[in-house]
Amino acid sequence: MKDLYFSFLVGVLFALGVGGQTPEPNRDPNAARLVTSDIDLFWKAYDKADPSNDLVVYRDEYLKKGSPGLKAFDQLRIGSPCNLVDAINAAPRYYAALRGPSLKVAEHEPKIRDSFRKLAELIADPIFPDVYFVIGRMSSAGTLTDKALFIGVDMFGKNGDAPLDELGNWHKAVVGSIDRLPYIVSHELVHYQQKYPRPAGSSLLTRAVGEGSADFIAELISGSHINTHLHKYGDPIEKELWLEFQKEMNGSDVSNWMYQGEKAKERPADLGYYMGYKIVESYYKNSADKKQAIRDILEIKDMNEFFRKSRYAEKFSSQAGN
Ligand SMILES: [Zn+2]
Repeated sequence: MKDLYFSFLVGVLFALGVGGQTPEPNRDPNAARLVTSDIDLFWKAYDKADPSNDLVVYRDEYLKKGSPGLKAFDQLRIGSPCNLVDAINAAPRYYAALRGPSLKVAEHEPKIRDSFRKLAELIADPIFPDVYFVIGRMSSAGTLTDKALFIGVDMFGKNGDAPLDELGNWHKAVVGSIDRLPYIVSHELVHYQQKYPRPAGSSLLTRAVGEGSADFIAELISGSHINTHLHKYGDPIEKELWLEFQKEMNGSDVSNWMYQGEKAKERPADLGYYMGYKIVESYYKNSADKKQAIRDILEIKDMNEFFRKSRYAEKFSSQAGN
């Protein structure tokens, strides 16, 4: 409770600004900062680290010296120098091979800016927060707070000769190549625009639509999304997945559909993202006014009504008999 109160207080103080003024959100797609300094810092630490000093080096030379973005990401997704060192030691050849692609992040800035500008064409009141590119412990490709977007570049080390044999099945499926960076940035950017809460405990439908809509709009502004592997798997068996999803979508147990990580055995993890995408896609296709549809998708007020209007269930009604 104390922690919650503290977070709330920090949030209020931040919102007011130190001088008592509310900071204006950035609405200029060209003005958002894309911060890559933490990647250089990581490799400096990496080159200094050996088994006798690695905890201290990553703590003092990387996590402590990093940008405010790295510090926030550390709290959210790394947790401790120990976690970071464990991840590097679990996949040493993968991390070694990550250096080349990770130093090319800046090359993707034009494409990232393009998708920012496309979002500005699509919606009336976009906000463009700063984006921090960091190296973490293979726990997050991207996340966000109310202040910034964070991209875990360590999840984008797949290239022609990157060794993946040290990774588990989930990592093998989700690790992408560095040229997919614009899609994850767009996904997180869309989350930033969403104006409805999706806390843990919300229905599976709400959480799936929250994620699927981030993929759907990311594709509109950047040309693709981060879950093409799920679509490849899901498209041939969409009806079967839908009939299963339908039974569970009003409950709050998302464990068959989202965030399973390495626990998913028979099927890929995160198929809830796929179902959410399909529902949102149906809403968009069935809307005459596409701009209004995007606004609706970002500002869902009543999830059941949104679902009804998507007419997704009708897609299979003749075959499913309902
Ligand atoms: Zn997401």
